[in-house]
Amino acid sequence: TLDFHPTGRHFLQIPGPSPVPDRILRAMSLPTIDHRGPEFGVLGLRVIQGIQQIFQTKQPVIIYPASGTGAWEAALANTLSPGDHVLMYETGHFATLWQKMATRLGVKTEFLGLPGVEGWRRGVQAHLIEERLKADKEHSIKAVCVVHNETSTGATSNILAVRRAIDAAKHPALLMVDTISGLASAEYKHDEWGVDVTVSGSQKGLMLPPGISFNAVSPKAIEASKHAKLPKAFWAWDEIIEMNKGGYWPYTPNTNLLYGLAEACDMLLDPTFGGLQGTFARHQRWAEGVRSAVKAWGLEIQCVEAASYSPVLTGVIMPEGVDADAVRKLIYERFDLSLGTGLGKVKGRMFRIGHLGDCNDLTLMAALSGCEMGLKLAGVKLAGSGVAAAMEYFAGHPVQLPMKK
Ligand code: PLP
Repeated sequence: TLDFHPTGRHFLQIPGPSPVPDRILRAMSLPTIDHRGPEFGVLGLRVIQGIQQIFQTKQPVIIYPASGTGAWEAALANTLSPGDHVLMYETGHFATLWQKMATRLGVKTEFLGLPGVEGWRRGVQAHLIEERLKADKEHSIKAVCVVHNETSTGATSNILAVRRAIDAAKHPALLMVDTISGLASAEYKHDEWGVDVTVSGSQKGLMLPPGISFNAVSPKAIEASKHAKLPKAFWAWDEIIEMNKGGYWPYTPNTNLLYGLAEACDMLLDPTFGGLQGTFARHQRWAEGVRSAVKAWGLEIQCVEAASYSPVLTGVIMPEGVDADAVRKLIYERFDLSLGTGLGKVKGRMFRIGHLGDCNDLTLMAALSGCEMGLKLAGVKLAGSGVAAAMEYFAGHPVQLPMKK
């Protein structure tokens, strides 16, 4: 009982999985090859070198045939022992899920943050981490875990500020960061920011289907993994790092997704389109255009800190009494447009517009049109036309490619 005709493209406007470009779909359609053969080693080395550039690291990046949740577990299982004390920070639903996972694995978690939903409207407050670490005189805290781009709210945290907070406290804790929805969309520097383990996934900025995920590691994290006592076998870094030297894995890797990953790295790093810096600039621009629409509608953005606005997604709060999921359902059924649901503490209060990966001005204009039509049909009073505001923004802010300068 859907109202749309089954023609044209579905508008997958959730903050991941993001639409997979045809170029990547074609690359993945090649025949699966022998994962122990010589051709595979070439592919393996190519994707490892490509993904290192995306993480901006020279250190090993482990690729798992798993969703992001698997890579979360890998980060914890490789570095920690049962009963270890870990400081985690509540930015939203995904930070909460990671904290629950750590607890289930037998780690003692301390969940820092602002009360109620206050913390769900901002990035990590690094000074709170610094204060807490300074009070930990015996260095009982073994790791600090934060989410870089909180997909449930649309707030991006300043990871360098967290690094500096740990350093200011002269604390030896490992820094572990989830940038599952930030990588290849928001600026991220694994080495320069001194991150020990970075967790990411395939289905967001990398424009791939779900199914592979990553741990970028530091020498300090590798050292910790030699003494860490949480059980680990499939997730253990040591054998994978060893076999990756030749471009192979100790088990059967996700060959066709690796074809896609090689293609995605080529696309994202292509200097013709500004390379990684061009990728970050594109996302900032799309985000600004989408926010101009939300502001023109007179609706509130979930993130209240302009410095933490996410380049990946925008959370839109519904007026009191409007069920955000009912609006989403109407938009899906009428216009074949998927928007992200409110998660956890903000369920029913807001929806999320993804503006990541394989987008352009016109796909975003179409998505905003779907939102505006749906909001009106749902009886939401709008202050003005968000579509008109976004058109003004995009038309008035041409893409600045390095080659055009
Ligand atoms: N962390 C963040 C920030 C996410 O956005 C997601 C998924 O959306 C996850 C973790 C979980 O990843 P997955 O669903 O791939 O297991």
